[in-house]
Amino acid sequence: MSNFSTCKKCGAKLCQDDIAIYKKLILRTADEFLCIDCLAEYLGVSREAIEQKIRYFRESGTCALFR
Ligand SMILES: [Zn+2]
Repeated sequence: MSNFSTCKKCGAKLCQDDIAIYKKLILRTADEFLCIDCLAEYLGVSREAIEQKIRYFRESGTCALFR
């Protein structure tokens, strides 16, 4: 068991934000994740849109996934 996760599509190393936004947008109980680029492609939105959501959730302070 490694102590970091990788994108299940491209294998990129994931940071906490990547994991948090995936859980928030896709599946709270997920144990496999996508990086922001692959998540954006999956959702059919721009990478910037995902980054905006991350910023929003962090700044709103209402989501326990973002600290
Ligand atoms: Zn990826």
